[in-house]
Amino acid sequence: MKTLAQKYCSLLDKNDSSTPFGKTKATALLCLDWLFADKELSQLALNSEDGVLQSLDLFSHYAQLMQQLSCHSSPWLVDSILNLFALSRAGEDDVEVHNHTFAYHITRYYRDNASAQQRATVRVSNRAFLCCFQAALCQRLRDKVKLEEEHMHRVKVFQPCFSLVATGRCHSQHNYPMAHDLDAKWFNKRARFYLLQIIILHSIHTIPRCEEFPERIKQRR
Ligand SMILES: [Zn+2]
Repeated sequence: MKTLAQKYCSLLDKNDSSTPFGKTKATALLCLDWLFADKELSQLALNSEDGVLQSLDLFSHYAQLMQQLSCHSSPWLVDSILNLFALSRAGEDDVEVHNHTFAYHITRYYRDNASAQQRATVRVSNRAFLCCFQAALCQRLRDKVKLEEEHMHRVKVFQPCFSLVATGRCHSQHNYPMAHDLDAKWFNKRARFYLLQIIILHSIHTIPRCEEFPERIKQRR
């Protein structure tokens, strides 16, 4: 899955955030969400410079795609988004949400209020769906970025070994890989590490604020 995610991310590099959320973005997001699905984010490498950067590169794509999707004003008009979430358009004003899907799970208020016969597919107005959709994606992105940040605090490969810096030698048996070759190549990688972290954090500062959602949902009931 990592190889597949890398393949679709390399195709995305030719796009930018202003391009429509087409099939390539949807496929890349599907691969990346699967890759970072577990609660431990076990696919993030922490013990080598190149491994960390490769993981962060994929995670930054994930964060940016989630950000774009959560800011989308009318996801029901985009076929690739409909396919990704197994949604159907139901006339001009509603979407149909199918059982056993992520969209079904996030629209539980409407599902619980539907009659027993209607529960296999629930019809929700576009506006109500947008509220649930944005709230769920924003929360998911925030949770993932928070977890990713906790992992990155444990990365030591971009911290110089102070014993080596201070004395010119190091005989320590470090418990984790630590930087000893502080050359230009290492400094460039270190800069990239921080820049990728900034891109990832930026994604959660540009999504709608979650505390607005309960109020907006109430207003639309
Ligand atoms: Zn050392």
